[in-house]
Order: sequence, then C-alpha cells, then structure tokens
Amino acid sequence: MFEKGAGGMRLIILGIPGAGKGTQADRISQRLGIPHISTGDIFRQNINQGTELGKIAKEYMDNGKLVPDDVTIGIVANRIEEKDCKDGFIFDGFPRTIPQAEALAKKLTDMGLNIDTVLNIELADEKVLERMTGRRVCNKCKATYHIKYNPPKMEGVCDLCRDSLVQRNDDKEETVLKRIEVYHMQTEPLISFYKERNLLREVEGKGEVDSVTRKIFEVLEVEI
Ligand code: AMP
Repeated sequence: MFEKGAGGMRLIILGIPGAGKGTQADRISQRLGIPHISTGDIFRQNINQGTELGKIAKEYMDNGKLVPDDVTIGIVANRIEEKDCKDGFIFDGFPRTIPQAEALAKKLTDMGLNIDTVLNIELADEKVLERMTGRRVCNKCKATYHIKYNPPKMEGVCDLCRDSLVQRNDDKEETVLKRIEVYHMQTEPLISFYKERNLLREVEGKGEVDSVTRKIFEVLEVEI
C-alpha cells in the first residue's frame, strides 16, 4: 500500500481529450501530495500572461493541433527539475507523441528516475464530443462546469465567484473534432508504447467521476 512520502510516485495519465484526465489528475495529486503537471495548463497560463511561449502555443491550440515537440519537451524537462517534483509528479496531457515519450524516458534515466505507472482512461469518441463542447470555465477562478452534467446554479455565472463562464476556444466543436483526430493519429500509439514496457494500466472512463477515481486508486493500490 502506498503511503505519502514513501519514495514518491511518478505517474502519467493518458486518454483522449475530454476523458477526465485533468479532474482525476487533480485528485491523485492531492491524495499523494505530488504536483499535477498539465502541459495544457502551462500553455494556457503563458497565453494569459502574453509570453512568447504563449504566442507560439496559441496558434496551435486554437486549431486543435499539437504544440511542436521541441517546445513542449523543453518545458517539461525544466519543470521536473523543480524542487516540488523530487517526490514524484503526475503528468496530464504529456507525453502526447512518441518522440515526447522517448525524450521523457531519456531525461528521467539521466536523472536516475523512472515512470512507475501509466494510467489510460478509456472513453469513446461520441462521449468526448458531448463532454467537451458542453464544458464551461469561469473567466476568473477557472472553476469548470458542464451545461448538462454539472451546470452552474445560474446559467453562465460561476457559483463560486459570480464571474462569467466561457467556452475555451479549443472546446468549440470544430476544434474538438480536430483534437480527436490528432489524438488517434499522434497520441494513441503511446498506449502500445507503454504496454510494451509493462507500465500501462487501463481504467474505464465512463460513469461518475467518483467511481472513476475509486478505480484509479484501486489500480494504484492507494486508499481513498
Ligand atoms: P489539454 O488541456 O491537455 O487538452 O491541452 C490543450 C492543448 O494544448 C492541446 O490541444 C495542444 O494544442 C496543447 N498541448 C497540451 N499538451 C501538449 C503536449 N504534450 N504536446 C503538444 N501540445 C500540447
């Protein structure tokens, strides 16, 4: 049974966009006391702050395409050298291509580390479209809602801070369809990549968020 501080856990959460990786990674991060590293969040922060990296990333993100590997790999390589990563981390949305996975393996080997487990959250394409196009995010506090599955008390208004809810550019239908296509072409091959390395564990992503969390903790042999 894993206990906090017992040598750490280095995890990857894989799955099609909209499978619930972000929500589950947050819960794992809190339970295990390890940082949640989302490359999508890093890019969005940079876009909000108007940095050079943000300008590069926005072009790709708004079109549902992947940010180039060299840019993404550089950011992650720096991030995992930070102090808070010394007892582990969970990657969400990284790696997304075979070259990213290879670069990560090399970087970790150089640091004398390795990935412990790769969780693959499975979800059918039809579910993804409904989940993502219905998603709304608070402009201010970034709380997320879903117009059907997790609606705010008042339409278009955040329950927590009363700011307005918006749809992320990359959650618009046309972009989501492109993201699904990009996932199958570029990211799905990672399932075999990690299966061959005996690191892959599959988790069914449909159903209640809590029941998916329970299944994940079972796989990780962590008590809730
Ligand atoms: P996410 O929030 O993980 O769904 O990511 C949103 C968008 O950020 C993706 O559609 C990509 O454009 C970009 N992105 C996030 N992570 C990566 C990555 N590992 N490699 C390339 N692009 C990424």
